[in-house]
Amino acid sequence: MTTSQIDLAALRGACETHLPGDPGYDAARQAWNLAVDLRPAAVAVPRTVAEVRAAVRAAAGLGLRVAPLSTGHGAGPLDGVPLDDVVLLRLSELTGVTVDPVARRALVVGGTLWADVVAAAAPHGLTALHGSAGDVAVAGYVLGGGLSFYGRRHGVAANSVRALDVVTADGDLVRASAEEHPELFWALRGGGGSFGVVVGIELDLLLYAEVYAGMLLWDRERAPEVVAAWAAWSRSAPDSAGTSLRVMSFPPLPELPPFLSGRDVVVVDGVVLEDDDRAAELLAPLRALAPEVDTFGRIPAAGLLQVHMDPPTPVPAVASHSVLGELDPEAVTALLDQVGPGTRSGLMFAELRHLGGAFARSVDDGGATSSVAGSYALYCCAVAPTPEAAAAGRAAADAVVATMAPWQVPALVPTFTESAAVAGMFATEDARDLARVRHLVDPTGRLVGGRPIG
Ligand SMILES: Cc1cc2nc3c(=O)[nH]c(=O)nc-3n(C[C@H](O)[C@H](O)[C@H](O)COP(=O)(O)OP(=O)(O)OC[C@H]3O[C@@H](n4cnc5c(N)ncnc54)[C@H](O)[C@@H]3O)c2cc1C
Repeated sequence: MTTSQIDLAALRGACETHLPGDPGYDAARQAWNLAVDLRPAAVAVPRTVAEVRAAVRAAAGLGLRVAPLSTGHGAGPLDGVPLDDVVLLRLSELTGVTVDPVARRALVVGGTLWADVVAAAAPHGLTALHGSAGDVAVAGYVLGGGLSFYGRRHGVAANSVRALDVVTADGDLVRASAEEHPELFWALRGGGGSFGVVVGIELDLLLYAEVYAGMLLWDRERAPEVVAAWAAWSRSAPDSAGTSLRVMSFPPLPELPPFLSGRDVVVVDGVVLEDDDRAAELLAPLRALAPEVDTFGRIPAAGLLQVHMDPPTPVPAVASHSVLGELDPEAVTALLDQVGPGTRSGLMFAELRHLGGAFARSVDDGGATSSVAGSYALYCCAVAPTPEAAAAGRAAADAVVATMAPWQVPALVPTFTESAAVAGMFATEDARDLARVRHLVDPTGRLVGGRPIG
């Protein structure tokens, strides 16, 4: 039977459902990344765990597959994937956070954003291993490992997860932890959304009420000395310093502050988990380059979500990524030849996120992504308002990644990877184990993760 012959209206009994042609279908299928065009058979928007279970069961009863999605920040790998037999399960209305300040734990409901977790933790002098943007959801981020500015000291965010409540491919509700369904627990922490619909996440919080954080900004003309200085500085920076360097190009837009609008700049930002004197001492070599803007200082830990200046609203974007080892002077020259002064790379930014420290250390009880090899995550991103711009942007991003190939190491950060291919993301043995767990928990392949496993 083709999907058009199936009575999709049966899904409506499970939860709010939008079918093609319904007035709400386009808004419900829209990912945060506006360049991604998802055309599922239906979009289900559950508001309770019971509705998630009912939606999965209804889809199963109709012979349809199910793709969980929280915000669509990481929807890139689903772009172009045929979804005409798939129910897109939007978890954006299934939200909530409870903080246990004594245990320093948060109980996070399936589709909750990091901003809400950070806001709930802050009154207790706590924060979390969140990423740069508050409107990313906890689920997709921790299921892909999760790189936080705190990570050089505290490791990938997936290691802070203590338990996951999961609706399985059959619509059952199970708890995955070190004690219960340990293989599922291992697979979900880094293996992505192919193993179940995550409806609850229990995670450890960090004891930081305030942090020394901010950004330094220079005109791109200064990129040769700034990139060389940051590469040398980051080589010996302690684990307490979690920073990134970006060469960025901003269009002339009235909504941007004047120091960004229409400008090409180089920015170093992040956090230094030290007291003020030691943090200032560590940053001195970068401040000696006389940045035009310097916002580094002690701020409430929740303020770290603003430091990276991620877009406040959805954007159409394409990206390319690799992981690099140490950056010698030739690597700096190669990068500058692509994105330095006088170039027109076509990118919105090329970013080097500093890895190493606790990112590089696997933990005994960790999941499928419990560490990340290499020294820098390279992430090149272009704005893609049209399919033509997306093709050009992807080519531009791929070109920078290709130029840096001599410094590439065999690793990928799942949350930074737009491609659906899992090759290179996991060691051979881990990839085999992920496929085995997938077969155990979802033998008919009902769940459609961004990165297909098994
Ligand atoms: C502006 C911006 C800033 C970012 N900053 C960082 C950063 O600092 N560090 C970092 O590591 N990454 C970062 N990312 C990448 C981001 O972590 C990934 O895109 C992540 O997948 C987003 O999670 P999400 O749930 O919001 O995304 P979604 O697009 O909703 O989900 C992505 C995939 O995760 C799975 N998934 C999501 N929710 C569930 C669920 N409840 N149950 C089962 N599976 C689910 C699905 O397979 C889905 O296809 C950033 C991305 C953007 C666009």
